[in-house]
Amino acid sequence: MKKEKKQPMRSCIVCRNKFIKKDLTRIVRNAEGEIFCDPTGKAPGRGAYVCRNPKCIDSFLSRSYLERTFKQQIPQETVEEVRKQVGLTGVKDGEGRDE
Ligand SMILES: [Zn+2]
Repeated sequence: MKKEKKQPMRSCIVCRNKFIKKDLTRIVRNAEGEIFCDPTGKAPGRGAYVCRNPKCIDSFLSRSYLERTFKQQIPQETVEEVRKQVGLTGVKDGEGRDE
């Protein structure tokens, strides 16, 4: 007998594939217009989910994509801050250059 609880599914905002909610990273914009990573999945505000595919995370955590998603201007520092929260430490020169 199977007694699995149905897991809530959400779509990744970038690739649109469905994932179990806990396998996604939630980015929230709260009432104050602050944007941050929400590891609890419970922060109030408008949330967007992105899967763990580095390509999706990278596309989503760009300023233009975030601005389009949350329909507001977002300072570059905020983008950097959210990237840090998600664990993407400033991939600038040198880093992430796989050959
Ligand atoms: Zn994705």
